[in-house]
Amino acid sequence: AKEAGGNMYAFYAAAMSAEIKERRTIEEGLRRALEGDQLLLYYQPQIDLRTGAVAGVEALIRWQHPERGLIAPGAFITIAEESGLIVALGEWVLKNACLQSQCWKARGLAGLRIAVNLSARQFKERDLLATVTRILTETGLDPATDLLELEVTETTLMDDMGKAAATLGALRDMGLKIALDDFGTGYSSLNYLKRFRINTLKIDQTFVRDIARNTEGAAIASVIITLGHSLGLTVVAEGVETREQLEILRAAGCDEIQGYYYSEPLPAAAFEEWLAAYKR
Ligand code: C2E
Ligand code: CA
Ligand code: CA
Ligand code: CA
Repeated sequence: AKEAGGNMYAFYAAAMSAEIKERRTIEEGLRRALEGDQLLLYYQPQIDLRTGAVAGVEALIRWQHPERGLIAPGAFITIAEESGLIVALGEWVLKNACLQSQCWKARGLAGLRIAVNLSARQFKERDLLATVTRILTETGLDPATDLLELEVTETTLMDDMGKAAATLGALRDMGLKIALDDFGTGYSSLNYLKRFRINTLKIDQTFVRDIARNTEGAAIASVIITLGHSLGLTVVAEGVETREQLEILRAAGCDEIQGYYYSEPLPAAAFEEWLAAYKR
């Protein structure tokens, strides 16, 4: 038994060091990716259910790795957060989303809201407001007319509610919009919602998935939509894949839909093609 224990230990130690090694590889690779040309943004449309118009897009990061191919953020965002690289990465995302917005405006696609994800670490960064201001100046974007939205999660805000409310207030004063991402999955004290100057609630995909499966799923989505509306917020459902889900959400009064039903996230050029072919 003693020997087996020893073997188990050796097994865990080997697995652990392989994981540590992989993390280090990702971290070093990300550093190079930031300097080089390996990061790119994909865009996923958000459709206004009442008019059928494309109200906006969410920018989602991808890593075009020289050997491993296209990597989704699930494989590197946590490592970027833990290593602190997320701050530089987040700046890259914000700047490139702003540049893309300007590019679309120049090509006659004005009025397309663009949403950018903000990690907890970035949100808490002392320089966040200065960084956002600098990027807006550098890219010439006016967030009020060019419709720039930042997506934050409940957990990000819950940590230090007073400070979070102040940061959100300052961002709103600058003209940005704020969306509460993955709503319903975090620390859901509903009381805090009114303390924050948010514009949009995003119903998490886990609820959307249950919507057509059972009555509880549809009931929860309906309650979130009613809650959002009673606070004057726009409600977006994400991860919508089927017509059935869409119709249940429409009946419940959901404002906007994002999901594979309309389109997967696409590189800018492919998104433009999708948009040109899109019929309400
Ligand atoms: P999220 O912000 O909740 O983004 C939505 C995710 O759901 C995206 O995954 C999107 O591709 C996926 N999705 C959209 N529609 C559907 C659908 O109909 N079905 C299914 N199954 N999935 C759908 P993605 O792009 O892999 O991003 C994963 C997460 O990584 C994001 O979740 C976000 O938390 C994070 N992330 C992505 N880009 C950034 C970024 O630029 N900065 C930061 N900090 N985080 C990012
Ligand atoms: Ca998001
Ligand atoms: Ca989300
Ligand atoms: Ca999520």
